[in-house]
Amino acid sequence: MILKTEIPVAKNEYYEIDIDGMGHDGQGVGRVEGFTVFVLHALPGAKLKIKILKVKKTYAYGKLIDIIKPSAHRVNPVCPSFFKCGGCQLQHLVYSEQLKLKKQQIIDNIQRIGKLEDVVIRDVIGMTKPERYRNKAQFPVGIGSGSKDIAIGFYAPRSHNIVEIESCYIQHEMNDDVIKRVKDWMRKYHITPYDEVTGKGLVRHIFTRVGLKSGEVMVVLITNGTKIPHKDDLIKNICGISDHIVSIVQNINTKRTNVILGEQNIVLWGKDSIIDYIGDVKFRISPMSFYQVNPVQTEVLYNKALEYAGLTGNETVFDIYCGIGTISLFLAKKAKKVIGVEIVPEAIEDAKQNAELNYIENTEFYVKAAEEVVPELYAKGYKADVVVVDPPRKGCDEALLDTIIKMQVEKIVYVSCNPSTLARDLRYLEDGGYKTMEVQPVDMFPHTAHVECVMWIQKKK
Ligand code: SAH
Repeated sequence: MILKTEIPVAKNEYYEIDIDGMGHDGQGVGRVEGFTVFVLHALPGAKLKIKILKVKKTYAYGKLIDIIKPSAHRVNPVCPSFFKCGGCQLQHLVYSEQLKLKKQQIIDNIQRIGKLEDVVIRDVIGMTKPERYRNKAQFPVGIGSGSKDIAIGFYAPRSHNIVEIESCYIQHEMNDDVIKRVKDWMRKYHITPYDEVTGKGLVRHIFTRVGLKSGEVMVVLITNGTKIPHKDDLIKNICGISDHIVSIVQNINTKRTNVILGEQNIVLWGKDSIIDYIGDVKFRISPMSFYQVNPVQTEVLYNKALEYAGLTGNETVFDIYCGIGTISLFLAKKAKKVIGVEIVPEAIEDAKQNAELNYIENTEFYVKAAEEVVPELYAKGYKADVVVVDPPRKGCDEALLDTIIKMQVEKIVYVSCNPSTLARDLRYLEDGGYKTMEVQPVDMFPHTAHVECVMWIQKKK
C-alpha cells in the first residue's frame, strides 16, 4: 500500500518532468507525481530529464540532465559563464518572457497569499537595453584552480568557488579593464590573492562604482592588510583605463568574514566619493553608501511612486525605510515636508548630506526602527498625508502597519522587492480599511530573478 505521505522521488534517481513555473530564486518548478521539484536553469514550458539532488519533506531539488523538449522562449545566453556563475538566473530566457514571468509571480502572490481581488496589475516596465545596467560590482579575488595562480570573477551558486570572468554582461564595460589590469599588476609583482581557508594573501575583492549619469568611476581594492607593494604602479595602471576614473580607494578588511568591506578606507588617488544623479537629484556616493544598483530603472520606479503619491505641495510625506533618502529627496520638491525613517545611522548621515548638497530644506530624518519611531511620532501629533514604505525583503512590521492604519493616512505608496511579504502586508492593510488600487512592476534587475514593484494603496471611503 502506498501511503499518502510517501515521497515519490529519491535522491540520485532520474525522472522526466514538465516545468510549469518559476520559484522566487529563478529556479524552474515542476512536479513528479504531484511532488514539487525545483530545477536550476529549467524554464517553464520545457520537458526535462533530471536527477534528484536533495529531498525535503514537501519538495525536492533536481539537476537538469537533458532537455527533452526546450522552452519555446529559450535563447543562448550572451555570457559564456552563465551556467557556472551565480550572478544571473534568466539569461537563457528571451527578455520579454522574463518580464512576463516576473508579472506572473506578482499575480500569483497577490491572489494566493494576499487574496486580493480587482487589483490592476500592470505589465512590467523593462529596460530598452537590458545590459550593462549595474553601477556597482564586487569581484572576489582568490586562488585559481589547477595551475591558475589568480582567479577574479564571481562565486558559483551557493559556493565560494570563483568562476573567472573577463566581461560581465550586466556590469559597466570599464570593469573588464579594471579586472584585467589588477590581475596583470598582481602577476607582475607576485601580489598574493586572499585565501579564505588560511586567511592569508593580500587582495580580497575589487569593488567598483560607476555614476552612470555623471560618468565618474570609483575603484576600491579590498586588502587583507595595510601595505600595498608597488602601489604607484597599480594607481598608474588603473588611471590609464580612462579619464572617468576619479577615485581609487583602498579598503582594509583583515577579518575572517564573508562581509566584503572592512571599516577603514584610505584614498589612494583622487576623491573619496563619486557623484551621481537620479532625476535631477544629486547624490554623493562613498564606498560604504547604499545606493540603488540600477539608476535608470530607479528613476522609472520613483517617477511612478511620485505619480501614485499625487503630491500638490501641501502634503506631509513619511518615507519609511528611507536608506540614504533617495525617495525622500526625490519627493521633497513636490511636498510640503518629508520625514525619512531608517535604522542605519550611516545611511541617515548620507541622507542629511545629500539634502544639503541639493539645497533641500523641507526634510527631517530619524534613525530608529520604523516600528518604534513612527508610533512615537504619531503619539507626538505628527500625521502623514502620504506614506511611502520601501521595506527590506521581510516586509513591514505589524506595529508600523497598525500605526499607519490608526493615522488614517489617505494614501500609501508601497515599494517592494519581495512579492510574498508584499502580498501579506497588502492583506493586512486591506483588513485595516485600505484598498490596493494598482501595482506597477519595474524590472530593476534584468536577467536575474528579482522582482520589484511599486503600488498605490488608498484609504477606503
Ligand atoms: N528607500 C531606500 C532604501 C530601501 S532598502 C532606497 O530606495 O534607496 C530598505 C532599507 O530599510 C534599508 O536601508 C535598511 O537599512 C532599512 N531598514 C531595515 N529594517 C528597518 C527597520 N526596522 N526600520 C527602519 N529601517 C529599516
